[in-house]
Amino acid sequence: MTDPREQLRRYLEQRRELGERELVLDDLSVEEALRIVGGVRPAPTRKADEARAVRKPEIASPDDWRATLRAAGVEPGREADPRKPQRGIPASTPEVGGQLAPPGIVVGTTSRDLFGAGGPSLDTLESIERAIATCTRCPLYATAKNPVPGEGSHKAEFMLVGEAPGATEDETGRPFVGQAGQLLEKILAAIKFTREDVFIVNVLKHRPPGNRNPLPQEVSACSPYLVRQIELIRPKVLVALGSFAAQTLLDTKLSIGKLRGQIHRYYGVPLIVTYHPAALLRNPAWKRPTWEDVQLARRILDRAVSGA
Ligand code: URA
Repeated sequence: MTDPREQLRRYLEQRRELGERELVLDDLSVEEALRIVGGVRPAPTRKADEARAVRKPEIASPDDWRATLRAAGVEPGREADPRKPQRGIPASTPEVGGQLAPPGIVVGTTSRDLFGAGGPSLDTLESIERAIATCTRCPLYATAKNPVPGEGSHKAEFMLVGEAPGATEDETGRPFVGQAGQLLEKILAAIKFTREDVFIVNVLKHRPPGNRNPLPQEVSACSPYLVRQIELIRPKVLVALGSFAAQTLLDTKLSIGKLRGQIHRYYGVPLIVTYHPAALLRNPAWKRPTWEDVQLARRILDRAVSGA
């Protein structure tokens, strides 16, 4: 088996080659990585840096991860507890009057029943899946290879909503399993979740041909499934991935930039908006704000669970 220190070293080198200075989506800085592998020396302050520069430099510049790791003196790492509450959100995450973030758009009532009386008689997540499998409410069923109803824990407290299945999702019948899905898994890992812990869905349950944007009539045909899924799962936090999901759920044309950093409400459920993982693949500069958004969402969940 490969030495964990060697694994970490290679990993850090890869990330550096990709131009990353911080392990943003892993909730780690180089200093934290060092602590995990047993290099318990605290993060250098400017004074300590100056003193060290006068003496013999023991740790290279934080940018030089390889040298830093070599200098660290290491022990095998500890496994992270996947359910452990977060260490904290970046100082830039807005805190207003004891709130984690300012309130945003409110959609629906704050009633515990998202649909209320008279909603569709889709009583279980399985019955929703069956209904989606035979759905003809819009023409997309005719061109799609497979329905993609969504998947994850039926008891999930954390639910993520994407746009629509892409090619890989259409092939497999599973949401977020292509390149964007791999990045989504890393994002989830950064807040100590696996995809099995959460529930992942899309606004549309069938792939629009050629990945074109969903049409309004497709969205309205498909929306009852999503609303009912949310009602049955009753997550404590919803995360809208990308502008399409955000604008659809919040019934707005506002941009992600305007919708981020607020706690919206979707039928009483706190909803956080962030960038779509596919957008992050195109624009890595959005990783940092995404990190802040998912940390905020995680903090909301942790507070809800602890009753604070
Ligand atoms: N993009 C989405 O919005 N959903 C998927 O399932 C895959 C890619």
